[in-house]
Amino acid sequence: MSMYLADIGVKCPNCGVKFNSRQLPLVVDTGLRNSELRQHVGETKPQYEQYSICTCPSCGMADWTLSFPATDEVCVLNQPNSPPHLQYRQAALWAEKQGKNFYGVGMFYLYAAWCADDINASPQNREYRRLAIDALHKSLIDVSCPMEERPDVEYLIGELTRRVGDFEACKNYFNRVISRLPARLSTMARKSMKLADMQSTELFDFD
Ligand SMILES: [Zn+2]
Repeated sequence: MSMYLADIGVKCPNCGVKFNSRQLPLVVDTGLRNSELRQHVGETKPQYEQYSICTCPSCGMADWTLSFPATDEVCVLNQPNSPPHLQYRQAALWAEKQGKNFYGVGMFYLYAAWCADDINASPQNREYRRLAIDALHKSLIDVSCPMEERPDVEYLIGELTRRVGDFEACKNYFNRVISRLPARLSTMARKSMKLADMQSTELFDFD
């Protein structure tokens, strides 16, 4: 699978500077997910997440690419060529400064972890997962986590806990929440607990 990229002029909502961003206009949902609920795009690596983040070359604001409105004006500046995992980290720090949307912060750290995986950036990928776990926990308390995402997030916290190697914490956590997870997620949680028993941090397929 090849990816069609476009240079799209955008305007920074924070400082107003206009610049060119690299975007992936079309993302086809394959419907396939791994145990962290990340989409599989065949064997394509790195995947589409690297184009879902954008950083302003002037003020340094980082956010989802879609948060930067497109402009028809000619742009001379380009978006900085910094590794996507660092841009997601920057977006998380920026979102933390803005206020208390811990769900948004957690998602940025999760995507940071995935983009770090894509280029084998370790130990950053583990550090991002820990930060994602913490923010996602808080998002269930401050209810910034959307209602319809709650089951996925409750499951993800446990799975991410296993993925960073906290096997006992993973099992204790799932034992507390598994009874309220929907069937498709409680099945996954049980598989994750089994892997935690074997002290495995491996990903597996969602089915
Ligand atoms: Zn800006």
